[in-house]
Amino acid sequence: MIDLPVISEKTETHVQHEVRFPLRKSRRVHIGNVPVGGGAPISVQTMTKTKTSDVDATVKQIIDAADAGCDIVRVTVNDKEAAAAIGEIVRQSPIPVVADIHFNHVFALKALEAGIAKVRLNPGNIGSVDRIRQVLSLAKERKVPIRIGVNSGSLEKDILEKHGYPTAEALYESAMRHVGICEENDFHDIIISVKSTDVRLMIEAYRLIAQRTEYPLHLGVTEAGPTRIGTIKSSVGIGTLLAEGIGDTIRVSLTDDPPKEVEVGKEILRSLGLATRNVELIACPTCGRLDVDLFSITRALEDRLAGMKKPVKIAILGCVVNGPGEASEADIGVACGKGVGILYRKGEVVRRVKEEEIVNAVVEEVEKFQPETN
Ligand code: SF4
Repeated sequence: MIDLPVISEKTETHVQHEVRFPLRKSRRVHIGNVPVGGGAPISVQTMTKTKTSDVDATVKQIIDAADAGCDIVRVTVNDKEAAAAIGEIVRQSPIPVVADIHFNHVFALKALEAGIAKVRLNPGNIGSVDRIRQVLSLAKERKVPIRIGVNSGSLEKDILEKHGYPTAEALYESAMRHVGICEENDFHDIIISVKSTDVRLMIEAYRLIAQRTEYPLHLGVTEAGPTRIGTIKSSVGIGTLLAEGIGDTIRVSLTDDPPKEVEVGKEILRSLGLATRNVELIACPTCGRLDVDLFSITRALEDRLAGMKKPVKIAILGCVVNGPGEASEADIGVACGKGVGILYRKGEVVRRVKEEEIVNAVVEEVEKFQPETN
């Protein structure tokens, strides 16, 4: 005798309904074909961890990141070999490539000539007025935005002396020093980041810059750490700001591979209802009422649905207590009983499936699912 969920039972639901966050007004820039700011969907970035001069390894990492849902990828251009390789990387990359450059205006010029889509560069760090003009005028000519990236660990000495230690005002002042140089040169395609390893400081600094400028913001907790701790710190820092309507593009920094950074970034957006083209998987935490192997089912679904670009909400619930209510509120749902699941589509029961068939049945439904267009 199979223990079936009571389908008609009215239960409390934890499925989140659509919530809209107040959105900070920001200027729109384009990183290649990806719009950033001005109400554009929030994009997810990562950075390659290979030697840039190793084109094959770098392109492979970019493709893996793109497959995981990455929108924009950053590559360091830190030596002559990297500057020589960047053109080929841009040619082979399926997503826009950003050049990460510190201090060297020649590398910036080479990367711009090679067709990169954005430069991460602080103009105040590349020397003479003439060098700054050369880089900004080529970026302007090529319609390539510049990200000014300030970190609490690398503030200018005079700013640090003035404020005593890295504060939100110090980060703001440092960022605006570089912004000022761009504005003096009539360059306005700017994105700003004010990162810190200290989550509270990073939140405060982004709030300040969000109140005082209209430039789009790249959010991140810098050097967040290994996967577990880095995921938590990034989720708290980036998530808090996004929930306040602050932030236009995000990068989760983990001591892990780029696809992992992308997965966490996508999950942060998903958790706030800000991911536009992704599968959202809701699952109960399980408890003593459970009569199926829900851990294995959800792990298998996570793997099978990774990278799928479809706005579909899936709920997998372990038993009759919350199962039928939540499963029927998702696009696709499963409410499990003893060795069995009831499959729902848009609140309607589709069929009963055996436990070992649940994963395949859900994947099949997701593949068939036609999202509503409006
Ligand atoms: Fe809730 Fe049932 Fe899952 Fe337990 S098994 S957490 S009661 S849905």
